[in-house]
Amino acid sequence: MTDAADLTASERGRILAKAAAFEPPAITTADGRRDLVGLTREELVTELAAIGEAPFRAKQLWHWIYHQGATDFAAMSTIARPLQAKLSDSFVIGRPGVATEQTSADGTRKFLFRFRDGQDAETVYIPDLAEDRGTLCISSQVGCTLSCRFCHTGTQALVRNLGAAEIVGQFMAARDAYGEWPSPKGETPRLLSNIVLMGMGEPLYNYAHVARAMRIAMDGEGIGLSRRRITLSTSGVVPMMDRCGAELAVNLAVSLHAVTDELRDELVPLNRKYPLGELIAACRRYPGASNARRITFEYVMLKDVNDSLAEARALVRLIAGIPAKVNLIPFNPWPGSAYETSTPAAIRAFAEVVMAAGYASPVRVPRGRDILAACGQLRTDSARAPRGVAMMGSMP
Ligand code: SAH
Ligand code: SF4
Repeated sequence: MTDAADLTASERGRILAKAAAFEPPAITTADGRRDLVGLTREELVTELAAIGEAPFRAKQLWHWIYHQGATDFAAMSTIARPLQAKLSDSFVIGRPGVATEQTSADGTRKFLFRFRDGQDAETVYIPDLAEDRGTLCISSQVGCTLSCRFCHTGTQALVRNLGAAEIVGQFMAARDAYGEWPSPKGETPRLLSNIVLMGMGEPLYNYAHVARAMRIAMDGEGIGLSRRRITLSTSGVVPMMDRCGAELAVNLAVSLHAVTDELRDELVPLNRKYPLGELIAACRRYPGASNARRITFEYVMLKDVNDSLAEARALVRLIAGIPAKVNLIPFNPWPGSAYETSTPAAIRAFAEVVMAAGYASPVRVPRGRDILAACGQLRTDSARAPRGVAMMGSMP
């Protein structure tokens, strides 16, 4: 007999196995050098041992790569010249290339990053003008296997998962663009102070690489972002939510969008696999959720679809007892989308019901709509390359 825990474990195994079919390409350049970005500390030690170097070099390199933001061994002044040369014979410190970038009238900046195999993904920097800080919205996949009805990324088939180097690389390349190296020690960076995994893709369908990238971002001797400044958004991959909480303990955002299975099945088709009851139960047991660290429920406001007061009341009943806030996201249209944004009055009335029940209910101000950089508007033209076709890359 199998019990629920066994089922969850086997489901998790299935999800991880499926992710393997969409693995990113090897982190080696055309001339056979290995990219050091994205390796764990232990792997870095192993790579260095393979060229006869001692473990303490890994610590030194970590500092240069993730604290100083160096991309060239020649800039590493604590490493003697001959070793610098030896390192650059075997390794590179890669960055995604910037294919295009656009800045919105409101200061939001969208990067189209290009990876070594020619695939692209979008990353958005959203300055917080009031606080003089900002959030980087990072992609975890090129495309998405899920097809939420209101999401532009959902119209693009999954091309592949992004590797750890490509995920943390989006942050590092954005930092290059804002000149915010070295990483501030012990204080919060002024500009790139927060990460949200809310770009293209479903991060919990690429858990292994996302986890690696976030561990690197949180490492105190490098980028050093606190887990409190990282938020992972999921459409509800229930079996991986527990693992994410236990291992990474980053903030969780859940794309709820509907309060009945009937409607959520339609808007977020993953609901047919992990229905609301299971999703909410996983939120209730998410480790580390407390009043100081609330779960964010994201709720896209679709005119006459999910924005009634009855639904607002059902929402507060559904999440009763969970330390939570409800982020109302006015629907961002994209070419060909089938929905309309709720009226400001409907959004306000909905928010009032949620607030009256004791939940913060901020309405997300759309940012960067003019450059299709707002939530759910990201999409690239990448398609899956036919097998055996080599692609030209731009990464070093
Ligand atoms: N795949 C993850 C993270 C990326 S989407 C997830 O679905 O949670 C980030 C957020 O934007 C999600 O809450 C998503 O549902 C929402 N979203 C998608 N399309 C949108 C649109 N057109 N307008 C507003 N929000 C949208
Ligand atoms: Fe994928 Fe999230 Fe878009 Fe759904 S909302 S299609 S899970 S990126």
